[in-house]
Amino acid sequence: MSKVYNFSAGPACMPEWVLKTAADEMLDARGSGMSVMEMSHRSKAFESILQETKDTIRRLASIPEDYEILFLQGGGNLQFSMVPMNFNKNGADIINTGQWTKKAIAEAKKLGRVHLAGDSSDKTFTYIPKITQEDLDPDTDYVYICENNTIYGTKYKNLPPHEGKRLIADLSSCIFTEPLDVTQYDMIFAGAQKNLGPAGVTLVIIKKDLLDEQRDDIPSAMLDYKTYVDHDSMYNTPPTYGIYMVGLVCKWLEEQIGGLENMEKINQEKAGLLYDYLDNSKMFSNPVAVEDRSLVNIPFVTGDPELDKEFIAKAKEAGFENLKGHRTVGGMRASIYNAMPVEGVKALVDFMKAFEEEHA
Ligand code: PMP
Repeated sequence: MSKVYNFSAGPACMPEWVLKTAADEMLDARGSGMSVMEMSHRSKAFESILQETKDTIRRLASIPEDYEILFLQGGGNLQFSMVPMNFNKNGADIINTGQWTKKAIAEAKKLGRVHLAGDSSDKTFTYIPKITQEDLDPDTDYVYICENNTIYGTKYKNLPPHEGKRLIADLSSCIFTEPLDVTQYDMIFAGAQKNLGPAGVTLVIIKKDLLDEQRDDIPSAMLDYKTYVDHDSMYNTPPTYGIYMVGLVCKWLEEQIGGLENMEKINQEKAGLLYDYLDNSKMFSNPVAVEDRSLVNIPFVTGDPELDKEFIAKAKEAGFENLKGHRTVGGMRASIYNAMPVEGVKALVDFMKAFEEEHA
């Protein structure tokens, strides 16, 4: 088997321990004589997998009991609609940091009022707007952010002020890459396919009392967060295998990595290796404001689109997959989520150094 390092932004590489455990359990999961995929979601065996997954997530991030842990489908994109459908009564304050908030703004506008509280489009989203309470609209219900912009490689190091308002955040690309204090938020969501498991599951962590503030015109049970709370995420057939895999990834984080503090240290080591090289390279550079740099999505360019192309092609030949930047920005991007080993980043940096020397 030939080993590649997969730098995809999502679906992304998975921890080898998780894949091996899933393979071991594929034909006979926990003595059931069948795969998790084949289990009824109403069976005792699956109910215990769901409960175990929730318990592991709760322990991993010390999530207090006044927050619900839910599993939905429809990815981050459905959340762009569901959040305003449930909570935009008097308006939403949204900070625009690129693609993922643009889409959230477009959806929220269809459902209510939107106030743009901050916007980094003036510098092609290479920084996080630092807003104050005065930048917020006094009448809105909540402040909405994308905490880590997967495409531009930006990350909030401090959450925005939101006095008197709820805070709702898209953590799709940064969840569990570092310790998470959920009490700082009223709701977070994350598609699984970057740090949590396979595509098809969306994790929602929501403060129970936010559900007292829902709109009264939610058009469907499936679009109402309360349905998921009342039915333990099983109003309809949930993405059973995905939930099982999220459980394994969180078990890996807890038992193999030793928790989120350790995960953060490893992620800092990986990001440090790549940023240090980029900051000293004469060929490659990272365009993001240093204080707003993402720990896990690192875009870089040579400044010459032809050279970028050559680099991507040669890197692929050498076993470094998916280094092409997002189609809207070009250049390169290395996504180095939790499952990317330190050796993968070291190998990439060595390859980049050699490429730079060759072209000096
Ligand atoms: N939010 C962020 C931060 C993302 O990176 C993405 C997808 N890469 C989305 C939302 C959209 O997620 P999905 O494709 O699951 O709808």
